[in-house]
Amino acid sequence: MTRRSFFQVSAGGAITLPQFEPRSMLHVAEHPTARAKFPVIDVHTHLFGLGRKVAAESSQERAELQQIAQWMDECNLATLINLTGGNSETIPGIRKAVAQFGNRFVTGAEPTWSRANESGYAQWQAGELAKCKREGAISLKVLKTLGLYLREKGKLVKIDDSRFDPMWEAAGALDLPVEIHTGDPGAFFTPIDRFNERYEELQRHPEWSFYGRDFPSRHELHEARNRVVARHPKTKFVFLHVGNDAEDLGEVGQWLDRYSNLNVEIGARLGELGRQPRTSRKFFERHQDRIMFGTDATPNAGKEYPQQDLKPAMYRCYFRFLETEDEYFDYAPSDVPPQGRWKIYGIALPDSILKKVYHNNAARVFKLKAV
Ligand SMILES: [Zn+2]
Repeated sequence: MTRRSFFQVSAGGAITLPQFEPRSMLHVAEHPTARAKFPVIDVHTHLFGLGRKVAAESSQERAELQQIAQWMDECNLATLINLTGGNSETIPGIRKAVAQFGNRFVTGAEPTWSRANESGYAQWQAGELAKCKREGAISLKVLKTLGLYLREKGKLVKIDDSRFDPMWEAAGALDLPVEIHTGDPGAFFTPIDRFNERYEELQRHPEWSFYGRDFPSRHELHEARNRVVARHPKTKFVFLHVGNDAEDLGEVGQWLDRYSNLNVEIGARLGELGRQPRTSRKFFERHQDRIMFGTDATPNAGKEYPQQDLKPAMYRCYFRFLETEDEYFDYAPSDVPPQGRWKIYGIALPDSILKKVYHNNAARVFKLKAV
């Protein structure tokens, strides 16, 4: 570009960040991966969205599940675990809605936080979990509510508050693995300024920032969660989103080394894993028995959450990352990267590890049928 043309562009006004949509000029091998090489268990989905208005008999619900089942056939997805099944009152409705699909959709239970401040809550919740299990629940899902939203007399309740001990113990005794989401990406705990690597995402959703106010640091949240795992060695834990520390796989690896009752899931963290492919590949090799496939998929998540939209295009980003050596490709099916402005690289896992990550680890932990 000559000085003159540079001046002309500037004089016309610089483009803004959202207007910048560079197209890669690289010519590198591409291996779009339409179908997973081995059957997949997705341990992290929200089949009915996060608010559970499950109308088992609704024809719209049925059509949506039928469409999803068809996509599962196309992509080689054997089973989806719907984490947000609610409690013993909502789970039967969900079970009814998915009954015609055999074992393709299974459901987890959730704590009833609305009762957390009542006396006798812990015992009640432990009994409630037993009921959920009888209704078919296979896990206990704990959202980031615990640590970031749940309050008592205005103060945030700590993740390792001892009132929850009977609940964690009951999950262990009932063999309901705890799928827990704690904290969020590192960038959500730093100022929303020009140094923030998820600047545009946080511009769109300033409410996702936990920087300042009375929020604990991400490190404190992780430490409190880890104390729970240490205190309940007979309870199995699955840290969702790579423990929300996919930016530091060395740290996550130390947690896995320290706690034998711990596993991790990779949902919505392709962007982190895929931009450090050599570190990721070593992480998968070293912890190959403890990493599970998951996506955080939600039907009709839409354009704004392409990294979670329960459609084949989203799954194919995961397959390509795990199975190929492709370079510099999108971690989500969208023109502009939704989480941060970077691309990813495949880690080409060998078949023996792929089978574990796609299927066998989840089958073992959740006692699902292995293939
Ligand atoms: Zn989720």
